[in-house]
Amino acid sequence: ARKFFVGGNFKMNGTKESIKAIVKNLNEAQLDPNVEVVIAPPALYLQLAVDSLTKEGVAVSAQNVYDKPNGAFTGEISVSQLKDSGVHWTILGHSERRTLLGESDEFVASKSKYAIDNGISVIWCCGESLQEREAGQTIAVIEKQLAALAAKLTPEDWKSVVIAYEPIWAIGTGKVATVEQAQEVHEAIRKWLAANVNQTVADETRILYGGSVNAKNCKDLAKQQDIDGFLVGGASLKPEFVDIINSNQ
Ligand code: 13P
Repeated sequence: ARKFFVGGNFKMNGTKESIKAIVKNLNEAQLDPNVEVVIAPPALYLQLAVDSLTKEGVAVSAQNVYDKPNGAFTGEISVSQLKDSGVHWTILGHSERRTLLGESDEFVASKSKYAIDNGISVIWCCGESLQEREAGQTIAVIEKQLAALAAKLTPEDWKSVVIAYEPIWAIGTGKVATVEQAQEVHEAIRKWLAANVNQTVADETRILYGGSVNAKNCKDLAKQQDIDGFLVGGASLKPEFVDIINSNQ
């Protein structure tokens, strides 16, 4: 069985004080022990989160990492620096980076491979725009993103990958995908993995939904067969994040 997974992507939000408060809330909360929880604060606060987390089952993730060892790469953070700080996860390919910073499918795949090869697990994001959905291209867009990743990974590498399906039109808009819309894409992703990687990877890879997840809409989504958790933005900064973590009970 796939272990339920809930990630909190803080994006470019927070202060020392607010991140300490979020961590304190998690440390003191009753969390479903059958859920893997990962929080992704801005890079400046990764160490603070690592140092103040005491809760078992909660780990810290970066929001991005580079695909080269340490060196002359101004503004970037390396895999070895993450590990040195006690961070063993990173988000990669978030649509905000793909759109605002022009990250290509290939660059995201290259960074994913480099991270995995060097001991960092990856929350790999994919998703279609509203225009692509309305043009009936949703599955084709996701498959193209998946193909770029799969071209770089060995079947073994997928053990270090969690997929987050985040329709761009649902991110930060309050417009959550319906359970049917989400389940349909998750099922298509799993079928693609079975056909293009192998059945074990299809059966074992967690596929998260992200996009306006909150304490109210998470329970129905969690019940879907191919939804194995969430990647939460705005609501991960609020106490209701605990209810989302516990939504699969
Ligand atoms: P929201 O939950 O704020 O819509 O953001 C989703 C997201 O982008 C998580 O990575």
